[in-house]
Amino acid sequence: MNEQIKQAILDKIESYDTIIISRHIRPDGDAVGSTKGLATVLRDTYPAKRIYVVDEDFSDYLSFLGGEDTVEEAVYPTALQIIIDTGTENRISNSNYKKAKEIIKIDHHIDIKPYGDLVWVEDFRSSACEMIADFCLGFKDRLKISAEAATYIYLGMVTDSGRFRFEGVTGETLRLAGALLDYGIDYETLFAHLYIEDFSTLKLRSFVFDNIKITKNGVAYIYISEQIQKDFGLTLEAASNVIGDLSTIRGSLIWVAFIYNTTKKEIRVRLRSRFLGINDLAIKYHGGGHNMAAGATVYSEDEMYRLIADADELLGAYKSAHGDKI
Ligand code: AMP
Repeated sequence: MNEQIKQAILDKIESYDTIIISRHIRPDGDAVGSTKGLATVLRDTYPAKRIYVVDEDFSDYLSFLGGEDTVEEAVYPTALQIIIDTGTENRISNSNYKKAKEIIKIDHHIDIKPYGDLVWVEDFRSSACEMIADFCLGFKDRLKISAEAATYIYLGMVTDSGRFRFEGVTGETLRLAGALLDYGIDYETLFAHLYIEDFSTLKLRSFVFDNIKITKNGVAYIYISEQIQKDFGLTLEAASNVIGDLSTIRGSLIWVAFIYNTTKKEIRVRLRSRFLGINDLAIKYHGGGHNMAAGATVYSEDEMYRLIADADELLGAYKSAHGDKI
């Protein structure tokens, strides 16, 4: 059935002269890779079409991939808008998207609030880039895939799957990634961009390790308050990255980073887990995402502690039923 949707998407792409591609706010490697990857393929394949990537947000750590396009509002009414990797409309990083003639949604998040005229959602996929790889390679006789396009798409597959280790990675994921490698990706440079860190980031990490808290049942969490952000001179993005430092503690099957957002005066929550799902917990706290990687928002420290207590109860129940896990 999805073969028909993919064919319908290609038909739509071929029928439009102007295509605008957008992604979610706070873009990650998958959001940037999927949009830039598809845009590059379409530009190379259809040089006469106008293909734009519009994103009103920016992530510093992906700046090596370059910036995006600006599109006049007047262009939208005759354009096709493709939105990738964005589960809900409130996360679309393009305030004009609704002005487009038609909207296509391509996504791998759990579909809580559907939108779009043509929808291709496969929430079992490890990344949206995996879907873009499947799409482009599936039509490789008609679409031109350059080394540059393959690199964007591969980047999203690598980052969103935790270097091919998260739930959702299948033989098909690796077959698609392997096929992309054959297009000549410079992975040494790519991985250098992904791994090299400033020394100040390592100093922050050392602070994080000293200040992680662990609940009775093993939930690991840290609160990066406004003061900590000031002390370390952190951007919101750098502060949010601490979630990665909580991920390998034995017995802590749920880990959570709370980051105070000084502009919005609310606390961003990043939730992660192994073996058990935390998506329902994220939904309870105004968020959502995937089974084992989700986001939420809390509006006070009290609410933060309620979320921690709920997470602790969830983990306690899981451990009672399944015994201690790694
Ligand atoms: P993050 O911690 O922001 O990387 O989010 C993890 C996953 O949950 C990503 O796939 C996000 O797209 C999704 N997500 C994050 N925040 C929200 C939210 N408030 N509502 C729905 N999904 C979210």
